[in-house]
Amino acid sequence: CGVFGIWGHDKAAELTYYGLHAMQHRGQDGAGVVVNNGNCLTSHKGLGLVNDVFKYAPFHELTGDAAVGHVRNATEGSNVYENVQPLLFQSQMKSMALAHNGNLMNTDRLRNELESQGSILQTSSDTEVLAHLIKRSGMEVNEQSIAAALNQTTGAYSFLIMTDDKMYAALDPSGIRPLSIGRIGDAYVVASESCAFDQIGATFEREVLPGELITISAHGMESTRFAIRGQRKMCAMEYVYLSRPDSNVNRVNVHASRKQMGKELAQESPADADIVIGVPDSSISAAIGFAEESGLPYEMGIIKNRYIGRTFIQPSQELREQGVKLKLAPVRGMVEGKRVVMIDDSIVRGTTSRRIVQMLKNAGAAEVHVRIASPPIEHPCWYGIDMSTYEELIAANHSLDEIRDTIGADSLAFLSESGLEQAIVRDKTIHQGICTACMTGEYPVVHDKEKALAYKK
Ligand code: 5GP
Ligand code: SF4
Ligand code: MG
Repeated sequence: CGVFGIWGHDKAAELTYYGLHAMQHRGQDGAGVVVNNGNCLTSHKGLGLVNDVFKYAPFHELTGDAAVGHVRNATEGSNVYENVQPLLFQSQMKSMALAHNGNLMNTDRLRNELESQGSILQTSSDTEVLAHLIKRSGMEVNEQSIAAALNQTTGAYSFLIMTDDKMYAALDPSGIRPLSIGRIGDAYVVASESCAFDQIGATFEREVLPGELITISAHGMESTRFAIRGQRKMCAMEYVYLSRPDSNVNRVNVHASRKQMGKELAQESPADADIVIGVPDSSISAAIGFAEESGLPYEMGIIKNRYIGRTFIQPSQELREQGVKLKLAPVRGMVEGKRVVMIDDSIVRGTTSRRIVQMLKNAGAAEVHVRIASPPIEHPCWYGIDMSTYEELIAANHSLDEIRDTIGADSLAFLSESGLEQAIVRDKTIHQGICTACMTGEYPVVHDKEKALAYKK
């Protein structure tokens, strides 16, 4: 998911729409905005792409100089209108809008507690749980009640919370999810990814820090801490595939880190071949790096039909497989008779790689050597990326040779864990560490046993 917030700009709703547009890749299941005119909060949201949701948006009614927005990728909680964010809670005391990226891990227990105390939860999303925790304390919505609520949760999250007179931004104590602060004129902007700042002409100011709670109001910006700041463990998959190449995640450019992953991969696992190709869009940077390091020409071997959504987001495996076929096409004239190195950023279920190898062979490629610019994903993600069970992960259940045979490649190699670290954590003054739990099984935030067992089922 992606969150966006702006405070102190008369075009708040429009700029949120543009910012969400730049972050469309982070979620395509739903989008929304809540705008604030100082008295009341007004919501506009819907299922689907940003453009579809905002096509007929009544921008003349969405007036106000502050707004929060969200693009949703349905991981936890089903893909229904009620779960589309920002969630808006109207109240006579103080209305509140919430937008969230990540995953709270102890919500089952919190839900039970809340319900036994008489709360009525309307959605299956984590975000609503936090809203109830804030309200439950019986206090006003302020730094103290938000901090108290956040301290009852565990997980990975970036939160934006808006009331009529303040906006709050919070990041989990391990800083697993990205969240940055920017400025446009006198206005403050907060976004999951820095490409949203570039989109609206805002400048990057700084990252929100792990365990930090930012308050933005008519008095400017203040920072407090709701948790002891742990070592930052930014999600490695933000660099591998999720973020846009023009974004800087924790001040490291995503394209540059991917290119470096490709270079490390070329050093570790070279291939005897004629050309290097990447799977658009997320693997192009790594393919360029691999080509540069290996001295092989980088070619356009696959093109992407831009008019259909990301394959991963499809609800079933069957649809996912169809999706790959519709989405990608080989450049026959380029790959025919060639020994091809095919770079992809990651293998999760193995669907994409298998389809593409088949496609390239059907187009006449003599050999296809698959090189993956990240280590095998052998463990589920507990922190909000859509890989939540062991069964679905091909590398959790099969050896390297078995995967190679399943996808039909002539050879297969993955980037090593140290190669990945090298590519991302080049400047130790910036990066203290990254989360690589889905590859190593070393989870930076440990979660309640119940849910761990549910995941393993
Ligand atoms: P697979 O086809 O192996 O299940 O998925 C891997 C492909 O899906 C890669 O090309 C990657 O760019 C793309 N992808 C889309 N969403 C995700 C995601 O949530 N995690 C990962 N690792 N890859 C994803
Ligand atoms: Fe990212 Fe993997 Fe950690 Fe999940 S487990 S936050 S996908 S690095
Ligand atoms: Mg890809």
